[in-house]
Amino acid sequence: MTATRPRLALVHGPTPIVRRPALDPLLNGVELWVKRDDATGGAESGNKLRKLELLLADARAKGARVVVTCGGLQSNHARATALACLGLGMRAVLLLRVPDPARARREPPPPTGNLLLDRLAGAEIRFVSPDEYRQRTGLLEEVRLELERSGERTYVIPEGGSNGLGSLGYVEAMRETREQMNLGLTFEGASAGTPFDVVAHACGSGGTAAGVALGAARYGVARETWAFAVCDDRATFVQRIAAIALEARALEPDLPALDFVVPTQGGSPEGAARLVVDDRARGPAYAVMTDEQKRFLVAVARLGGLVLDPVYTGKALFGVAKAAARGEIRKGARVLFLHTGGLPGLLAQGDELASALEDA
Ligand SMILES: *Cc1c(COP(=O)(O)O)cnc(C)c1O
Repeated sequence: MTATRPRLALVHGPTPIVRRPALDPLLNGVELWVKRDDATGGAESGNKLRKLELLLADARAKGARVVVTCGGLQSNHARATALACLGLGMRAVLLLRVPDPARARREPPPPTGNLLLDRLAGAEIRFVSPDEYRQRTGLLEEVRLELERSGERTYVIPEGGSNGLGSLGYVEAMRETREQMNLGLTFEGASAGTPFDVVAHACGSGGTAAGVALGAARYGVARETWAFAVCDDRATFVQRIAAIALEARALEPDLPALDFVVPTQGGSPEGAARLVVDDRARGPAYAVMTDEQKRFLVAVARLGGLVLDPVYTGKALFGVAKAAARGEIRKGARVLFLHTGGLPGLLAQGDELASALEDA
């Protein structure tokens, strides 16, 4: 990271790396390590804070007083942005996707989970329809122009904080991880500092995937990265991640090249960032789990004391278990699972998980 790029210290780091041996059997024999990026902060916690260190520093350097961003109604990114802005003398305008905006304006949705925190933060919330949300880039720009006309200097953060600048937060997270490895904090059988076989994490807007893949290769953290899509398909994410990585490399020209591979494919150029994008664990829809995934989430909590969320991390670790069962991640492989957060989203889905709590 160049010394001249402004970056705020928002993350409570380095976040711990912990071993969860009780979960190895559930994961079909991989050796599971967890980097606790669910603990990057307090209520503002999760992976988005890593990107916001750079994005909000840029906003501040540009003199912005308002930050506008977007997401689903239970967006972790929107919530982290709203809370982080408070400490910086900025206010947040959140464009949140709901099925029926007119109805949401008449009867506000219950303030649970992330929405409760957005409301606590005093963020300005504007509901948008799924159709409008598809045009989110233009919509964010319209809102920026409107706010600028009223005299407020405004900074736009794209969905998930996923652009080249934001993704550098995860290049930095991989540098942090390498430092922890060098200190012997990921030692067990393997000699201290040995790279992991795989870094695995959930993928929703692609910025984390780009940063982790580039950073893991640059710092020798793992031979390969797996990004588990939670909504769109593989082709869509390959395109998005490639575009973000291109922006990141424009900012940091010495970052390695990305190499999108399919499981067990060999032959990557030396030093390339090998990235598997796996969309087979994304479940029925965004934020919706299969019954099997729900039971898995409950089992992980009860066996390993590891609380995952139903939108992102639960699906991603489920994907690791499936890849191991197929032999695509080999038995005994050392896997570093990046826990990206999402607790407020879990707390908003009690009803959906009720039956899995009974029969797991
Ligand atoms: C946003 C988010 C992700 C996905 O990160 P992207 O950079 O958007 O792909 C994963 N887990 C949690 C908990 C998130 O909030």
